[in-house]
Amino acid sequence: MLRIAVQAKGRLNEQSMELLNAAGVSVNMEKRKFLMRAEGFPAEIILLRDDDIPQTVALGAADIGIVGYNEVAEKDMDVNVLQKLGFGGCRISLAVPKTANYTGLDYFNGKRVATSYPEILRKFFADNNIDAEIHTITGSVEIAPAAGLADAIFDIVSSGGTLVSNGLVEVEKVLFSEAVLIGNPDISEEKMALARQLMSRFEAVRNGIGKKYLLLNIPVSALDEAISLLPAMRSPTVIPLANSEWCSLQTVVDEKNLWNLIESLKSIGAEGILVLSLDKIVL
Ligand code: ATP
Ligand code: MG
Repeated sequence: MLRIAVQAKGRLNEQSMELLNAAGVSVNMEKRKFLMRAEGFPAEIILLRDDDIPQTVALGAADIGIVGYNEVAEKDMDVNVLQKLGFGGCRISLAVPKTANYTGLDYFNGKRVATSYPEILRKFFADNNIDAEIHTITGSVEIAPAAGLADAIFDIVSSGGTLVSNGLVEVEKVLFSEAVLIGNPDISEEKMALARQLMSRFEAVRNGIGKKYLLLNIPVSALDEAISLLPAMRSPTVIPLANSEWCSLQTVVDEKNLWNLIESLKSIGAEGILVLSLDKIVL
């Protein structure tokens, strides 16, 4: 039985639970409890504050966990980062009031910087020989400069909207983060096998994101040209049709370029184009 730590509520909860569900680890969230037995996989989910996930995994109270890489870096616990999960993307940046005359990192010498990530910041300043005062705040860091509590902040940024509305500008991007799967380093071989199984399922789920399955009929005379338009994982599937002048072509395509591709295929004679949604790709 693999115990998996997941953020109880907050930004990563929903996508973590969706990913687990798509990987065949489902729990009944209506009967939400702190510890829930999963269906379909020998696992249980433990719901925690994200701050507690690195330590819980390091101590072995959970075997693996899903948490923002920023929390892993800040807590500096003995855990292995097993896999990047491709959601919860953000960065931790230094920001100063827009009225400040910022010319470079030296600006921070002797300044007070408010943050909820003191350890990451301490390391960054030490690496860059900056001598600043770090003030740890757990609440709304972005209001600290306006409140006279700090000269600058070091905080999570995703769109940058919060900074702008507080009269701040991002001046240094220090750490890029996304949700990651972490594991206890001393996990048993049996549990590691389950963790690996989950990792390959997560990868299959991620591979299917933004992809569609395309089916179409094309005159045999235009087949080579059609194939040259298609990106395929290996090569597209070509199936003969009852009418020997036509064949059916099937392949996986990126949703991004879908309409351009469909129009190009139509212009060389493709007909009966079907676009099907695609769930998982096991490579
Ligand atoms: P908890 O109650 O579990 O301690 P929290 O308030 O500390 O939650 P959330 O705001 O839910 O944390 O954010 C969880 C994680 O989501 C962050 O640690 C970070 O990895 C990621 N994240 C992505 N974008 C953002 C953003 N714009 N602001 C904050 N976190 C973000
Ligand atoms: Mg937290």
